Amino acid sequence: MADETSTPQSTEQHATAPAHAATSRPAHAGSGAPRSPRPGGSGGRKFFRRKKVCKFCTEKIDAISYRDVRLLQGFVAERGKIVPRRLTGVCTRHQRRLSLAIKQSRNIALLAFAARF
Ligand SMILES: [Zn+2]
Repeated sequence: MADETSTPQSTEQHATAPAHAATSRPAHAGSGAPRSPRPGGSGGRKFFRRKKVCKFCTEKIDAISYRDVRLLQGFVAERGKIVPRRLTGVCTRHQRRLSLAIKQSRNIALLAFAARF
């Protein structure tokens, strides 16, 4: 019997989506505009922008001393992270020296290492 076993198409019965769950928004009609933009939105960033000139270049500081903790701390965030160049405006050259100085300073425990938490 060459009977083709005509398998009925496997009707995968997925979860029959309940027709209830259609997006039926209860239209609260009559109370103002639906999309109210935030008052005072797009006000710009609060971050004050420093002058994007390298501090060391302007002050002609070439060698950044690792002992100048006061200076270094200006470029180290609270947790001991080195503030990225684009925030401080330090040029690449000086940022390198700066980070070197900061690392040296850490080694002799003048500056804190990055916090561990
Ligand atoms: Zn510079």
